[in-house]
Amino acid sequence: MNKKRDRWDICRTCGNTADVEIFGRDGVTLQLEEKINTYLPITVSKDDNLPLKLCNLCISRLENCHNLIVSTIEMNKH
Ligand SMILES: [Zn+2]
Repeated sequence: MNKKRDRWDICRTCGNTADVEIFGRDGVTLQLEEKINTYLPITVSKDDNLPLKLCNLCISRLENCHNLIVSTIEMNKH
């Protein structure tokens, strides 16, 4: 039981210890699903047979990526 849990308790994008569930309350607030599916070469869904968590480092990387893309789009509107 514990082993199975450990295997699922890792970050989906780097394999380190995970902190936040993508479909948990914090993950939904951070729109992790939307950002992962938009920016990363993977698609996550609740039915995945893979870990559905991210570590704080990858979350901040994903946020940086999001901010860069948003600012690029804004800048090029004019
Ligand atoms: Zn990670």
